[in-house]
Amino acid sequence: ETQTTAAAATEAAKAAETKAEETKAAKGSGTLVGVAMPTKDLQRWNQDGANMKKELEDAGYQVDLQYASNDVQTQVSQVENMISNGCQILVVASIDGSSLGEPLSQAKAMGIPVISYDRLIMNSDAVTYYATFDNYKVGQKQGEYLVKALGLETATEPKNIELFTGDPADNNCNFFFGGAMDVLKKYIDSGKLVVKSGQTAFEQVATANWDSEKAQNRMDTIIAGNYSDGTVLDAVLCSNDSTALGVENALASSYTGKYPVITGQDCDIANVKNMLQGKQAMSIFKDTRTLASQVVKMVDSVMQGGEAEINDTKSYDNGTGIIPTFLCDPVVVTVDNYKDMLITSGYYTEDQLK
Ligand code: BGC
Repeated sequence: ETQTTAAAATEAAKAAETKAEETKAAKGSGTLVGVAMPTKDLQRWNQDGANMKKELEDAGYQVDLQYASNDVQTQVSQVENMISNGCQILVVASIDGSSLGEPLSQAKAMGIPVISYDRLIMNSDAVTYYATFDNYKVGQKQGEYLVKALGLETATEPKNIELFTGDPADNNCNFFFGGAMDVLKKYIDSGKLVVKSGQTAFEQVATANWDSEKAQNRMDTIIAGNYSDGTVLDAVLCSNDSTALGVENALASSYTGKYPVITGQDCDIANVKNMLQGKQAMSIFKDTRTLASQVVKMVDSVMQGGEAEINDTKSYDNGTGIIPTFLCDPVVVTVDNYKDMLITSGYYTEDQLK
């Protein structure tokens, strides 16, 4: 009798499992989702793409995932192809936020919803939802970190800082740089922080394509012109890890003074390694798994004809009006908490950081 009960239980468990699989599959029911990512060059987008694909497939969707080598025209063609290939919803992390207008108005005309992923697509009324990390908070946390690390509240001597942000066509930069400058500006205005290069305007501190080499070249020039005579560079605000890496390379090759406090974002492996070696003070951790799960939930809600979960209805105007947004929370990572945040959480293995 025990045996029969056990067998029955196994049967029931099996049936439940099949049912769960069926429900899952029914959710996505083979719907084709186009996922457009900017580039494979940067570690994070590979993770974003892989997470999205896996989670969507697990939920029963089919996925057309494309990377565009940071080339705007390539991304435009990829989105056009997604539409002609029958994608019923698009998830797009744009390269140039303002260049997708044409294919997206086609999507809109065909009733294909568009979710803006991480970066806001500008000047297009085809954008249904936006999901990202709180970009303003990213900059704010970098700024606050610098204020503390440099002891600006109590410092009696001025500290020298240089500023780096990312691509001017990436709307996030306005928030990253703006958030940081909202914290730092009063110290610059009062003379507690000095930007020796004089480069403080957005256009001067932007880095085309977030390119490490471009950041490195600019930092080389800044060092040669301002810090090669023994002047100490106390800090560098870098909006993300790829720009921080360029700055760190420039410092390694041509700066010999006291090492500056450097900020970053993404917790890229190369930068976490630098952090462990004292070459970068902090990075903002944006767990791409969280963003991907949130976007998959959005896709589900939209495809079922419902409304997606949002938590911000005021911050992101893309030029056609406010886009309803879900903001995930960014976290400061330093040598003090990286183990918990990055390893215990399963984001990286210890070996990857060796
Ligand atoms: C993302 C950052 C990333 C940067 C460069 C930004 O839009 O939010 O996480 O470092 O692009 O790819």
